[in-house]
Amino acid sequence: MYLGPLLLLCVVWLGAGALPEGLAPPAEQSMKWIEAEGCSRLSSRQVRSYLQQAVFPNLPFAPELLPDTCQLNPAHDLYMYQEVNKTEVHRGDFSCGYCGKHFKTEFYLDKHMHGKHPEKLQGDSPVCLGNLCPIFGCR
Ligand SMILES: [Zn+2]
Repeated sequence: MYLGPLLLLCVVWLGAGALPEGLAPPAEQSMKWIEAEGCSRLSSRQVRSYLQQAVFPNLPFAPELLPDTCQLNPAHDLYMYQEVNKTEVHRGDFSCGYCGKHFKTEFYLDKHMHGKHPEKLQGDSPVCLGNLCPIFGCR
C-alpha cells in the first residue's frame, strides 16, 4: 500500500489554492468562464481519476472516512457533485443530470454547469483538486 503522499496531504490543510472567488455570472466570451472559475476542471478531473483508480482502492477504509481535515476526502472536492451529475450518453452526447440538457462535448457541459448550476459546487471547505497536480504529476 502506498499511502505516504496521501497521509502527507492529509496533514496539510486545504486552502492556499485558488478557489473561485464568488460565483461570477457566465462570461459572454467563450473562454472567460474558465478564468472565472479559478480551478481547472480538467486538472481536477485528472487528480480525481488518479485518486479513484490508484489511491482510494488501496485504502483500508472508504475514502469518505478520511479525516474531515484531509483535503483528499471526496466530500471536499469542489466539483464532485457536478461531476457525478454528468453523463456521457454516447460519443458526442453529454447530458446534465440536473436539468436534462444535452451537449456535444464535455467542455460545453462544464460551461453549462458553471453558468446554470453554480449552487451545486461544494461550498463547505472546498478543495480544488487541480491544485494538487504538481504532487500527482499531471500537467
Ligand atoms: Zn443543467
